[in-house]
Amino acid sequence: MSQTNVKRLYLMQVGSMPEYEIPIVCYLVQTNDGKNILIDSGLPEIIPEDAQEFENGKDVIEQLASLGLQPDDIHTIISTHYDGDHAGRHAAFPKAQYVVQRAHHWDAASNPRYASIRPQWDQPLERILLVDGDVELLPGLELIETSGHVPGHQSVLVRLPQTGAVLLTIDAVPFGVGFTRDEPDDGSNPDAQAIHASTIKLLDLVERERIGLVIFGHDQAQWETLKMAPAFYA
Ligand SMILES: [Zn+2]
Repeated sequence: MSQTNVKRLYLMQVGSMPEYEIPIVCYLVQTNDGKNILIDSGLPEIIPEDAQEFENGKDVIEQLASLGLQPDDIHTIISTHYDGDHAGRHAAFPKAQYVVQRAHHWDAASNPRYASIRPQWDQPLERILLVDGDVELLPGLELIETSGHVPGHQSVLVRLPQTGAVLLTIDAVPFGVGFTRDEPDDGSNPDAQAIHASTIKLLDLVERERIGLVIFGHDQAQWETLKMAPAFYA
């Protein structure tokens, strides 16, 4: 395995869609040189009128506090995409640099889908690192471009010293049942082809890198089997 600078991976459930038993989650990566890297930030503090199916739980600020971390301690936020259940607390981290796919950021700028939480993600450009495609952010932490759910969506590959490689699919593959090479069975979703291509890309990655743990974006049944913060993967 390649060398890694990653020390720990924490999983945090910060909210849910209770009616569908869907967890809303984010992740914290800690490095050997003391960096705290948040992956997504969960739901906004006040849920918008048009998103009442979502419910806040123990939010990202509280989760971090129970690990002894303040918002100022977050150096980087990997923003997988700007949907309201993923970027809802981005503005709460005054010292963080945001890392997002360029294609996503510029699509979001003119897309009403992301308007309600725009104050969260529309940060000064000098605080945003725009990336293109697959990028190694640091040794052991890789961004994998997986458009389909939205343009410029990104998944994250985390290489841990003991656990080995862990793939966070995020919304490229929200549920384990969808992690298959089978073609989507109906043409109702205009993004189905791109979603399928990204699914294949991740399946190939898992094979090539012999990834032992794949964590799906919103899979309640899987989530119940995983270690939750304050426990962590090392
Ligand atoms: Zn999502």
